Amino acid sequence: MMVSASVRADQAAKRAPRIRREFRTIAAMIRIYCQAHHEPLAAPCDDCRRLLDYADRRLDTCPFHAEKPVCNKCTVHCYSKTMRERVREVMRFAGPRMLYRHPWLTLRHLLDARRPAPELPGKRRP
Ligand SMILES: [Zn+2]
Repeated sequence: MMVSASVRADQAAKRAPRIRREFRTIAAMIRIYCQAHHEPLAAPCDDCRRLLDYADRRLDTCPFHAEKPVCNKCTVHCYSKTMRERVREVMRFAGPRMLYRHPWLTLRHLLDARRPAPELPGKRRP
């Protein structure tokens, strides 16, 4: 677990701040959800960690990179149906609780949410 955390930190260092922030946001939401629903010794539990790893990989392949819109405004549906349902449930539960636990991340997320979703890079006019 320590190894995967440091590997993750190395990968995170190469990411745009926007993507790093997005990862911190979803990681915080999954921890809040997991603590309330699964009562693990250390959140996230294995199952929620798989969801977080999945979200992490989706962020790596996000075509918008630094211009990534917030997920619920995105025009690309990059999650599988099952994972989308799971992450939606997490966001529904953790969203309202984020303000108290992570006020700064929440504020940044609200600011990110004000920007419209950009067009896909491939579709952009010259
Ligand atoms: Zn869990």
